[in-house]
Amino acid sequence: MNSINGKTKTLGLIGNPVEHTMSPFIQNLFAEHMGINMVYVPFHVEKGRLEGAIIGAKALSLIGNNITVPYKVDVLSFIDVLDQRAKIIGAANTLKYSDDQVFGYNTDAAGFLTSCQNEGVFFEDKVVCILGAGGAAKAISVVCAEQKAKKLIIVNRTLDKAEALKNTIQQYFNIEIEVQDYAEVLKLKEANICIQTTSIGMYPNIKETPIGESTFFRNLEWAIDAIYNPSETRFLSLARENGVKTLNGLGMLYYQAVKAFEIWHDVIIPQPIIEKCFKLFNDYIYSR
Ligand code: NAP
Repeated sequence: MNSINGKTKTLGLIGNPVEHTMSPFIQNLFAEHMGINMVYVPFHVEKGRLEGAIIGAKALSLIGNNITVPYKVDVLSFIDVLDQRAKIIGAANTLKYSDDQVFGYNTDAAGFLTSCQNEGVFFEDKVVCILGAGGAAKAISVVCAEQKAKKLIIVNRTLDKAEALKNTIQQYFNIEIEVQDYAEVLKLKEANICIQTTSIGMYPNIKETPIGESTFFRNLEWAIDAIYNPSETRFLSLARENGVKTLNGLGMLYYQAVKAFEIWHDVIIPQPIIEKCFKLFNDYIYSR
């Protein structure tokens, strides 16, 4: 990390809890490699104190904040200018303070897209099955629709939430969307890509998977999991064992941080630095 002095700028993550966040590691790594005099820290904000935290952040001349659970939706009330993806998703994870205004962004979508493009996952004309209808599913659905997927199949335990997501996406994009339950989706043969966005299978519940039937995976080209811990979820190992290409959520997490850093500092991180920092982050997270 740069040595802290009178010119050091502050940024940080607002959430509750924030103790397990990877964002300080990634952001301070970028700062070091880009020669930017800043420090990024976690801010634990108690329920009911979000507005105070943002007023305080502006008063203290912070450059910006990341916003995480449970404030990604509530924070919209304090944003003056919202980017289009955050508007559609209905949640923001990045704030930038400038000229007495709060700018809000959702960089999860950009993170997911870059991670997929880097691995050669393309959505145009593909049938994409999305498991889950929460925050991650919203960001991912927007990307699939923007990238002109042929059809989305949204599968969720709570069907109302899947219907609501379908309606939101169809307000903005001309795309066919079907809602299914987990029993129905097992018969699915037409999907090219399946994206797992639920919290099922996340550490420490690593033996769990929303879909355990091998036959489901056989016609897929790609299986993607938003989870990055463990590096290979049960969902991804089943896919791999059935000859499907797999991608975990580490790239999504990393590239949403890249995008946030670029917004805050109005820079483009050069590709060699992006690659070097990704390797350092990958080693850090999977060697602990
Ligand atoms: P969320 O908004 O709370 O949504 C959770 C989703 O999981 C909902 O669709 C929920 O279904 C489903 N779910 C949870 N437990 C379930 C169960 N036992 N059976 C069936 N469905 C269940 O959470 P989120 O923010 O979308 O995060 C979801 C996952 O994505 C987490 O593992 C998170 O770590 C990961 N994520 C990763 C990144 C990244 O950068 N890689 C970014 C965001 C999130 P119901 O609607 O029926 O409750």
